Amino acid sequence: MNSRRDFIQTLSLGLGAATLTDLTPAVSAPFLQKAPADKQLRVALMGLGGYANIVARGMKECKTAKLVGIVTGTPSKIPEWKQKYGIEDKNVYNYENLNEIKNNPDIDIVYVITPNSLHHKHVLQVAAAGKHVICEKPVADNAKQAREMIAACEKAGVKFYIGYRLHFEPHTKELIRMREAGEFGKIMHVNNYAGFQIGDPTQWRLKKALAGGGAVMDVGVYSTNGARYCTGEEPVWVTAQESKTDPVKFKDVDETVTFQLGFPSGIIANCGCTYGFNHVEMLRLMGDKGWAEMNPAFGYGPIRGTTHKGEIKQPDVNHQAYQLDGIADAILNGKPDPNVTGAEGLKDMLVIDAIYESLRKNGAKVFINK
Ligand code: NDP
Repeated sequence: MNSRRDFIQTLSLGLGAATLTDLTPAVSAPFLQKAPADKQLRVALMGLGGYANIVARGMKECKTAKLVGIVTGTPSKIPEWKQKYGIEDKNVYNYENLNEIKNNPDIDIVYVITPNSLHHKHVLQVAAAGKHVICEKPVADNAKQAREMIAACEKAGVKFYIGYRLHFEPHTKELIRMREAGEFGKIMHVNNYAGFQIGDPTQWRLKKALAGGGAVMDVGVYSTNGARYCTGEEPVWVTAQESKTDPVKFKDVDETVTFQLGFPSGIIANCGCTYGFNHVEMLRLMGDKGWAEMNPAFGYGPIRGTTHKGEIKQPDVNHQAYQLDGIADAILNGKPDPNVTGAEGLKDMLVIDAIYESLRKNGAKVFINK
């Protein structure tokens, strides 16, 4: 770890840690004025690990979303959370009594921040309890599960969002705006790489049963989602290659994977993701009239980007606060859903399924089966 910036980047791509608290950027002024109590989205966090801690701290900056509840399997965490965030006893649940949340009128939405392979089960439980749900990325282990989650939320009449915080982040939004406005011309090529060097060899991220996969599942989602928002298209085919430098540590999951996404217009995006090395969060877009480069592109910020027109000048914000307030605004004010719905999670999962199928088939071209 060489600098404060390296530290932020490494943690921010997946390894949440308590020490990040003082390093998140300031939130811009408009978000500091709180909405009245009857106009707030009341949120319960499920799974009080590294990232839930970061979300909870970010939510202190929220205007319209408010942390009011927790779901945890670790009773010893409860006193600290109650004290830090003013959580009332009636809003504290565990994984066994979660269904009782349906009788609690003071919780509107549950944010699932548990290990990847538990997302499917937990989202189905929340939907059955009749609460809106946000689920962390990756949405599930595979597209089949993602479809079941979407169907369950539709049946229950609840909203289903994925924790794609970058869709609320001003630099990323400006890049998307410029692409949609045609400022880059016809998009010709995209390059995205995301990753970090993973530590503790015993953690759940290295166990397929809890993680669903390795770097692809965790940070490949950023490259995939990024390629989709850089092109505005859905990939139709995938090829993928894996390199493994530590077959012991990565015996269960993938370490470094490069993949190519073919789009209907003929563009090919060259992407990659890794658990093997640091300083990897780069996004590059090339059009016939202009270009954009973001680096760092995927962490908690500050996000930095340059285009053929110069630096992307946007405020540095608290990603989690903006994400939760953006979702609150959509739900409470009936605004159109942000681009973070379960359907968006499914689109990324279809690509991830195809990446793993290509790896199983020694890099063969796999067509995405919608
Ligand atoms: P952690 O391991 O730090 O926390 C996971 C928490 O889930 C645990 O603390 C625990 O909370 C709960 N849990 C329930 N069952 C299990 C189990 N069998 N094994 C381990 N934990 C369990 O993980 P992270 O917070 O880093 O990641 C959680 C999710 O958030 C992942 O899906 C990850 O991809 C995503 N994430 C997203 C980020 C983003 O920027 N969008 C950044 C980091 C992570 P408790 O004790 O309260 O039950």
